[in-house]
Amino acid sequence: MRILLVEDDRLLGDGIRAGLMQAGFAVDWAQDGREGELALAGEPYDAVVLDLGLPKLSGMEVLKGLRAARNAVPVLILTARDAVPDRIAGLDAGADDYLVKPFDLGELQARLRALLRRGKSEGDPLLRHGALTLDPAARSVSWSGQPVELSAREFAVLQVLLLNAGRVLSKAQLEEKLYGWGEEIESNAVEVFVHHLRRKLSPELIRTVRGVGYMIPQAAE
Ligand code: CA
Repeated sequence: MRILLVEDDRLLGDGIRAGLMQAGFAVDWAQDGREGELALAGEPYDAVVLDLGLPKLSGMEVLKGLRAARNAVPVLILTARDAVPDRIAGLDAGADDYLVKPFDLGELQARLRALLRRGKSEGDPLLRHGALTLDPAARSVSWSGQPVELSAREFAVLQVLLLNAGRVLSKAQLEEKLYGWGEEIESNAVEVFVHHLRRKLSPELIRTVRGVGYMIPQAAE
């Protein structure tokens, strides 16, 4: 899951970025509104954490531009404690949720998970597929009720494939979900993660679509 963080406060941005990475998100950090807008035009994000008070272009302008361009990416805005009108204007401009500074990183992580599952499953926080269950909050996976140990990246690959069950994802699309700006990508990393997942879970779970990418088929009901 790849998140764009738009925050000009260095200390706060550093903390949020570290907290989200620890929770398994790939994070790109833009430090002003213009940089945020550019990132949004060029990359497919799963969610955006958007400060409203930003240099060059305000968070509200970024948000309005995003919705005007019919980009429906979930947006969580960060606002100051006394800025109730900002919060209302933000929600009216198409934000999906907000947090008031200072906030708890655990709450930010949980709210992002809630945003990410909206519209993808009927409110069930667990992702299920046959014998497989993935818990995004606990970051745990089980197969036929037995816990399976996965690395952070293996977990991320599995989660993205499950959220897109029935769709083929290219290696480049998977890499985009796994790595933030400046993180080094090993050329065959995705193949290796898929190989490990097949070994640890089931050889049949993830299909290779030759020349295109990987998919988990829709679960049979
Ligand atoms: Ca700010």
